[in-house]
Amino acid sequence: MKSIMFIAPPAAGKGTQAELVVEKYNIPHISTGDILRDISKEDSEIGHYVFETLASGELVKDEITYQLIENRLKKSDCKNGFIIDGFPRNLNQAIEYDNILKRLGYSIGNVILIDIEEKTLEKRITGRRVCENCNAIFNINDEDSAPQIESICDNCGGRLYQRNDDNLESFQTRYKMYLEKTGPIINYYKKQNVLHEVDGNDTIENVFKKIDKIISVIGDEK
Ligand code: AMP
Repeated sequence: MKSIMFIAPPAAGKGTQAELVVEKYNIPHISTGDILRDISKEDSEIGHYVFETLASGELVKDEITYQLIENRLKKSDCKNGFIIDGFPRNLNQAIEYDNILKRLGYSIGNVILIDIEEKTLEKRITGRRVCENCNAIFNINDEDSAPQIESICDNCGGRLYQRNDDNLESFQTRYKMYLEKTGPIINYYKKQNVLHEVDGNDTIENVFKKIDKIISVIGDEK
């Protein structure tokens, strides 16, 4: 059972790295950001709330995330492992995640922290484009990950769009949230001896090599 968690600041490349892990290890990628972006399209009270919160760069209420994570982890495709990205995002969520894992009979697995400089993140944030069909991620500011045609997905031909929180103003709030709220969970996992740090100031390929080295030695414990 390979259970992997990514912690990283916004636009550090965790979505891109998660896709590479999915390809190699054939485990599902669970991204609270992706799930919330789907909910934000709903014409309902919760849909509108999530839409506004995502655009501002603030975090949505903890209770919303608990339910969607537990429901997702209950699905049978998670039995052989999963990669979780974007959750937990604060200490309360980390504590509740332990309870969810206990209820489902899973262990925490390995936590991978992708470290990256703020300057690099700012550059990446404005160039990121996402496929509206398959969620593949590209970056028009980086020849390493630019799509062949600017608005079309290389993988499925879907239309690429820019997330409405991928602007410098939202980024400042999201980065602040990361330092203030997500920062403390790094120590929480360090103390449990499950944290691995990876330098993300490198090419996609090299960062994946470092991540893969960590994942490949994870055992098959539950
Ligand atoms: P991401 O795709 O991980 O960058 O997340 C995009 C946005 O979704 C964040 O800026 C938050 O507004 C929201 N979000 C994602 N995960 C969580 C979470 N675990 N708790 C609260 N808000 C979240």
